[in-house]
Amino acid sequence: MKKLLILTMLSIIVIFSMSYILYANDAEIDGENLNVRTGPGTDYEVITQVNAPETYPILQQEGDWVQIDLGDQQGWIHQDYMNEITASSEQAEEESEVTDQEPQQENTVTSSNEDEEDVMPVASTYSGKGLSGKIIVLDPGHGGRDVGAIGVSGAYESHYTLRTAHILQELLEQYGAKVYLTRDQDRYVPLSSRTTFANLKEADVFLSIHYNSTPELPEVTGIDTYYYSERDRKLANYVHQNMVSASGMDDRGFQQRDLQVLRINHRPSVLLELGFVSNEEEEKKVQSRAYLESVSRGIINGLQLYFQ
Ligand SMILES: [Zn+2]
Repeated sequence: MKKLLILTMLSIIVIFSMSYILYANDAEIDGENLNVRTGPGTDYEVITQVNAPETYPILQQEGDWVQIDLGDQQGWIHQDYMNEITASSEQAEEESEVTDQEPQQENTVTSSNEDEEDVMPVASTYSGKGLSGKIIVLDPGHGGRDVGAIGVSGAYESHYTLRTAHILQELLEQYGAKVYLTRDQDRYVPLSSRTTFANLKEADVFLSIHYNSTPELPEVTGIDTYYYSERDRKLANYVHQNMVSASGMDDRGFQQRDLQVLRINHRPSVLLELGFVSNEEEEKKVQSRAYLESVSRGIINGLQLYFQ
């Protein structure tokens, strides 16, 4: 009888300590369109995507994979795309190894009305004037094990961003710009390495190239542009308006957003979402060289006005 009591108490202690471990920490997402999978590995199906700076309770860890609680469901993410933050006490949080916990400026989205008011002129001629000698760092989003969004066709965002960067590079170089890519092949590059690269190259402009995806709303289409620092609002405006004008894509506006690749970047920087690969028609467009050239022309027109 005594033995049974001890056993019962022991199992209660085990259950309590387990639940403490299970819910003690949060995962702060460090990445964009990060795939959440049904199991701990890339072989498992993608159920949804998460973005920085969202945080989710950590349920358990298995190897390099961490299971997070999304509220309505649970899924697995790779540990390289998150920072573990201690949520159990403030003191513990101070001791956590995460050092760049700036106060989160949660998506300070400017109203689209405000954006309409200071629409900048769209370049009437495509001359690329003023680009000679300018240092442009192109950042093809994702790569390697981080495939980004997955298109209707099953193709990866990481593939589309690299192809876009190569075409944009080709055109920019025709106007004498010095172009560097944060990755030139299909490999994983951490966000901090991408910004360090831009800082080292003393980029006149850093352009992070991405494609968007909302599989649950497949009808959504268009181009978005994001900036973080007020300093880069003008750059975002010029590039955005000219991309929309040159490509004829739906205009989703340009907005301020707290994205790591912009926040820890010392150079003028914007992030471009050049279309929705979750929309079948738009993905086909993204696959065509004609679209990539037209949107690249828009970017060049915007840069031309920005440098003037
Ligand atoms: Zn992306």
